[in-house]
Amino acid sequence: MSKNFGPEYVRAIAPYQAGKPISEVAREFGLDEASIVKLASNENPYGVPESAKTAMAAAAADLGRYPDANGFELKAALSERYDVPADWITLGNGSNDILEIAAHAFVEKGQAIVYSQYSFAVYALATQGLGARAIVVPAKDYGHDLDAMAAAIDADTRLVFIANPNNPTGTFIGAAEIEAFLKKVPANVVVVLDEAYNEYLSPENQYESAAWVKQYPNLLVSRTFSKAYGLAGLRVGFAIAQPALTDLMNRIRQPFNVNSLAQAAAIAALNDKDFLEQGARNNAAGYQQFVEAFQQMGLEYVPSFGNFVLVKVGKDLAAGARVNLALLKQGVIVRPVGNYGLPEWLRISIGLPQENAILISALQKALASDRE
Ligand SMILES: *Cc1c(COP(=O)(O)O)cnc(C)c1O
Repeated sequence: MSKNFGPEYVRAIAPYQAGKPISEVAREFGLDEASIVKLASNENPYGVPESAKTAMAAAAADLGRYPDANGFELKAALSERYDVPADWITLGNGSNDILEIAAHAFVEKGQAIVYSQYSFAVYALATQGLGARAIVVPAKDYGHDLDAMAAAIDADTRLVFIANPNNPTGTFIGAAEIEAFLKKVPANVVVVLDEAYNEYLSPENQYESAAWVKQYPNLLVSRTFSKAYGLAGLRVGFAIAQPALTDLMNRIRQPFNVNSLAQAAAIAALNDKDFLEQGARNNAAGYQQFVEAFQQMGLEYVPSFGNFVLVKVGKDLAAGARVNLALLKQGVIVRPVGNYGLPEWLRISIGLPQENAILISALQKALASDRE
């Protein structure tokens, strides 16, 4: 159909598969929207913090104006929180925007980008959208093999994507290993450390990546308000990097990429410590709920450091799709990960305790009928 339009490398892109919206599942399966449980997109099950709702209501009065293109107040708040100058920060329309901007700012067509097998789908999309070359490094125990990734960097490589914790597998790399990797990477290769799930890490796993940015001029740390902060629908994320990288990011960035409501809500959420702490505690409890159920059901899962778990629901290559369909019929939306090369698995976001319970019982039913 679009055979004659666009470059070949754009035509070759497999479009991103998002989690199914609740309204679509309701229509498709004849279900009541209110009865549907969505555990598909790693959103915060507690939704938008009250503090952010109040801030947005106040900001709504000014929506006739363009947003602050420089995001002054949000950057000031982030600068204080992470102890870096405000001009080391780039705001993004979600951190997805940050990842795309980085690829466009630092890589040209034909150059290479290194990322891991089973890592975030947007890395492949950003690479392909540029006509850059992907160097996909085989995973180790479903996570990043940093030694192999360092070894895979060639003369044309300009960027490395690392997700920590990783999506869709939930694996985590400790601080010492990341730092050893940063020491090995050539100075002209940008390392994008994507920490979308950082806020869910327990205190003993936390590390100061913003401090590494001071030491490594080629490091860019990417964060988001979509997951632990509960603002996925607003689209706001940010990057921390030294001015040499940040300056280029800002040339590529659309001037008004983060809207006024998002800027106001992000400042409020950033200062809402209770919301974050409670969310992390609830997430840890939900993780236990899942893990105990999976063990009881005899299901293999990958130990997760995020707000989701990757679980193996069968042995054949159609198992994930089949069990996913059986769950959809029961009004439970999860994420099949066949597009990640994991067709026997499903990725399930951790929800409210009662949502987790619904998922567990729906999964038991789905597996029982699948084995008949
Ligand atoms: C969800 C996610 C993001 C991006 O989320 P945004 O909503 O665009 O901020 C980035 N990286 C990883 C690994 C994710 O899972």
